[in-house]
Amino acid sequence: MNKIIEVKHLKKNYGDKEVLKDINAVIEKGKVITVIGPSGSGKSTFLRCLNLLEKPTSGQVIFEGTELTDLKEEELDQLRQKMGMVFQSFNLFPNMSVIENVKLAPMKVKGMSDQEAGDLAHELLAKVGLDDFADHSPASLSGGQQQRVAIARALAMQPDMMLFDEPTSALDPEMVGEVLKTMQDLAQTGMTMVVVTHEMGFARKVADEVWFMADGYLLEQGSPDQVFDHPQSDRAKDFLAKIL
Ligand code: ADP
Ligand code: MG
Repeated sequence: MNKIIEVKHLKKNYGDKEVLKDINAVIEKGKVITVIGPSGSGKSTFLRCLNLLEKPTSGQVIFEGTELTDLKEEELDQLRQKMGMVFQSFNLFPNMSVIENVKLAPMKVKGMSDQEAGDLAHELLAKVGLDDFADHSPASLSGGQQQRVAIARALAMQPDMMLFDEPTSALDPEMVGEVLKTMQDLAQTGMTMVVVTHEMGFARKVADEVWFMADGYLLEQGSPDQVFDHPQSDRAKDFLAKIL
């Protein structure tokens, strides 16, 4: 087994509130994990702990063999570059064109030349179906298109793994499909992905493993069929009964 990330006894408190309670998990390289569960169950906090955007209260996050919880901020920055993140809000830089948004981090952080970053950006924009929009401003794009640019921008750092936190939740319904399709295409390239989502069709279809979170616990981990068709916990049964 080729582990990319391992989480051991991860706990996160905000003040007295225990938001993550002893989470243990392993992600193998190339796998797609979808994370489901009621709102407030700790999904976003968990995702943010994976790249130490949020500092765990205790426990370990081991990414590509390195324990992140031990690292200094500069070392952490290096490793964080290998984990692309896409949020609900796309946050493209409004004063830059689409392609400038995609080129920025590779040039600034990786020291890529303008030419090299431009070639890479065109390639990635083509991959998300938006190369024709390279010179447009983000504001002239639909929400779905902007989110696809945000995905291209994250991929421009050539990460080893991608984290998505409800990437389609802020979109109008008719735009959800194009973003899910982009993510599905990415999954098929062998990218390791962790996707927090309320899109149950996607969660089931694209995942190698589905993780169900509730009340700060990772209550169920299994194949899509196991978790969706044979949930073990009452919490998961309740949740699935309400949404399916
Ligand atoms: P989910 O993504 O599953 O909806 P979150 O991880 O956002 O859940 O939140 C889990 C719990 O932690 C919620 O009760 C939320 O109010 C609380 N929480 C999240 N972030 C903070 C924070 N920065 N400070 C205090 N409480 C927080
Ligand atoms: Mg959340």
